[in-house]
Amino acid sequence: MTRILKNYINGEWTDSDSDGEDIYNPADGSVIAHTPHSTKEDVEKAVQSARDAYQYWRKVPVPKRARYMYTFHELLVKHHEELAKLLTKENGKTYKDAYGEVLRGIENVEFASGAPELMKGETLPDIANGIESGMYRYPVGVVGGITPFNFPMMVPCWMFPLAIVCGNTFVLKPSERTPLLAQRLAELLEETGIPKGVFNIVHGAKDVVNGLLENKEVNAISFVGSQPVAEHVYQTASQHGKRVQALGGAKNHSIVLHDANLNKTVEGVMNGAFGSAGQRCMATSVCVVQEDIADDFVAKLNEACDQLTIGDGLDPNVDLGPVIRGSHLQKVRNYIDLGEKQNAVLVRDGRKDIEESANGFYLGATIFDHVTTDMTIWEEEIFAPVLCVIRVKDLSEAIAITNESDFGNGSVLYTSSGPAVQEYREDIEVGMLGVNVNVPAPMAFFPFSGWKQSFYGDLHTNGRDGVEFYTRKKMLTSRWFD
Ligand code: NAD
Repeated sequence: MTRILKNYINGEWTDSDSDGEDIYNPADGSVIAHTPHSTKEDVEKAVQSARDAYQYWRKVPVPKRARYMYTFHELLVKHHEELAKLLTKENGKTYKDAYGEVLRGIENVEFASGAPELMKGETLPDIANGIESGMYRYPVGVVGGITPFNFPMMVPCWMFPLAIVCGNTFVLKPSERTPLLAQRLAELLEETGIPKGVFNIVHGAKDVVNGLLENKEVNAISFVGSQPVAEHVYQTASQHGKRVQALGGAKNHSIVLHDANLNKTVEGVMNGAFGSAGQRCMATSVCVVQEDIADDFVAKLNEACDQLTIGDGLDPNVDLGPVIRGSHLQKVRNYIDLGEKQNAVLVRDGRKDIEESANGFYLGATIFDHVTTDMTIWEEEIFAPVLCVIRVKDLSEAIAITNESDFGNGSVLYTSSGPAVQEYREDIEVGMLGVNVNVPAPMAFFPFSGWKQSFYGDLHTNGRDGVEFYTRKKMLTSRWFD
């Protein structure tokens, strides 16, 4: 019997009266569960439960709210391996990547456990004779969280632990393609004894999202997903008077200068481009390489790709797992066809690495060389192990090309030159930069700060920005008479 997922509303596991879709193990194409496509009525019930719980939860002392997170942290650490295995099973990324992702999620819970420090306000005793002024932080209310398939642990953990310790209550709509991990997180959070209704899950797809965006009782929306949906979420939620942060897609450029350590750079780009099957919002999708080392660089990259073992991520020898669905694989294959048609040079065709009989959704590492900025494969996010190489004469040209992209999530510079790093840091229009590091994703205590169409809103997730997003301020100016 296929397991059918239930919603988690007011501390009860509740059936939704709706059809849904199957959840697959992308490594072999087998059905592992079924998720409902819940309705707007299901959303209303969950939001009502969060609204009721809010009246109580917002008054729970901050250190007490934080203590639930300590217990949650202990449970996550205890179940680290189990969570990583589940993640690999529903997402396809290798166990090593999944283990790392679970750790990233745990770090967010650690950050949220510091709520008493994070929630502190500010005071100034003498703004005028005998008058003092103070700023106090309060929760925003009910928060809706909508998350993508590619980080089923880390991205929900960017949102609900911090939102909850700040005194908000939460309704999560996980990706319909990877909802099992969120389900497990709810079970573990329940074990902490957290009051009913503080955290809820409604499974489903766009009806659930729109139900949250339009519901009057939802005060804030945190969204992470692709660019068109991020834009839709930002516009709709704003029109409905909500605070919103919406993180969108990406097309991350790594720049390789001729003074870089070539072997280390190849290692970095291999991980950045092909790690997690290229399905990271911070994946390296374009390498902009100085032309005098480009032949050498592409040859070394190609050789390194020969060493990759493709297969089920639960096998410890595997380096490259499947992409999420057969439909996505087909879309990626179409991009490869289009790249060839638009005259990019296909120096490595990952389609040839896969046997026709393979059941999972696999694609080998794929490299296009001599890509130009009028090509669709440069312009659009492919979200797969497909790397575009562009050849340039110098750093200024590399920066100009990077800045032409509509996206501005992440970028890496590979170099041994300090002045080059300065020029790069000053001129690049991207929010998360790295120097000689594979994937410059900031940790939980810094903002995850994409620019341009990679982000819609004002306050980013995580760090101080996250605290600002999940709290609102009251200013109190006071004078006392004898
Ligand atoms: P997606 O946009 O398809 O889905 C994200 C969420 O939106 C899901 O919960 C989904 O149910 C919902 N959704 C999908 N279509 C919708 C619609 N038409 N109306 C309303 N809701 C809709 O994204 P995905 O494929 O799950 O995830 C991959 C994408 O997420 C990539 O573009 C990746 O770059 C991006 N991403 C960005 C970041 C970041 O930090 N900027 C982090 C992770 C992933």
